[in-house]
Amino acid sequence: MGKSNMEVISIEQKYTYVLISGDTSDINKEVITKYWEIISRNKQPLIFKYMVKDIVEEFGLKQQEISKVVRENSEVIIKDNVCVGCGKYISVARSRSELIDDVRLFCNNEYKECNRCRKIREDEEILNKEKEEEEKIAFLFEKHNESIINTRYEELNDLEWNYLVRIGSQYTTPTQVAKKLGLSIKQGNKILNKLFDMSLLVNNPYKQEIGINDNFANKLKDIGIKNKVKPIFGSELAKKAFRQLKKKYLFVYPEIPVCAIIEKENIDHLLTESWHYNYFLTCRLDFVVTDREGVPEFGVEFQGSYHTDGDQYKKDEFKEMLLNEVGLNIQKLTTEDLKV
Ligand SMILES: [Zn+2]
Repeated sequence: MGKSNMEVISIEQKYTYVLISGDTSDINKEVITKYWEIISRNKQPLIFKYMVKDIVEEFGLKQQEISKVVRENSEVIIKDNVCVGCGKYISVARSRSELIDDVRLFCNNEYKECNRCRKIREDEEILNKEKEEEEKIAFLFEKHNESIINTRYEELNDLEWNYLVRIGSQYTTPTQVAKKLGLSIKQGNKILNKLFDMSLLVNNPYKQEIGINDNFANKLKDIGIKNKVKPIFGSELAKKAFRQLKKKYLFVYPEIPVCAIIEKENIDHLLTESWHYNYFLTCRLDFVVTDREGVPEFGVEFQGSYHTDGDQYKKDEFKEMLLNEVGLNIQKLTTEDLKV
């Protein structure tokens, strides 16, 4: 429909108008006028003055032909209601059924944008949102790279480091990592937040997952971290004990097999029960303190590895007996000792 030469006719006193294209023939103009003429707007549905079949009869046209003439040459607008985008009248209908569908909006005068302007605005909003999202991701990755270049991971404690390594280059969920490390969700989240704050992790923006970029994953490999290798220390407590002992003694060795420091012939006579020999071969001391030649001076066990009752107590007692037999004592560290 051409912009110019639009003819505006009122089909209802107060609000409803029809725009008719200026180059429409007189006969079609008459068809259109009769098609849209309303008796009452107050009743719902709208009451049209002429039934379509009457127009069909009067003009000798098929119903589809009438629909086509109407659709191509006219549109219903609402008086004084122009699009905030383009300033043109807002088209609300090009057929009776469209007008009836939209009758609520039509009467409440809710149209403030034409369909074209609405679509342009919505597309723009989607585009802006996508752009914003992309910028956010780019920013996260940039920060992540900076953190790697600045080797911020060196500030991490062992547990935090382990957490990072466990994630690796595979995107995973915080719950999975916490589970792998035997941490509670709360403990895991504490580390997670710290790693995020340090930009050592990036979000997988498409899922609720966390990860590190390939660059960093390769760096971890360069540093020589292999996920399959377990740390010597079985627990944080053992590590703490080791560090404390190292402050006090020059030569401290962790996880030493008892059979590595005691000759079997010296304790042979103590191997009286069936489990004794196997236990002698497999049991270890949490730490051994030696002189500078590597000769053991005493053993150290910390709380958590010895128990006060049951089977474990029997074994700990036997281990101590083996050491005492060759003139070595076992010093016992408690959690209290480790707090100092
Ligand atoms: Zn518009």
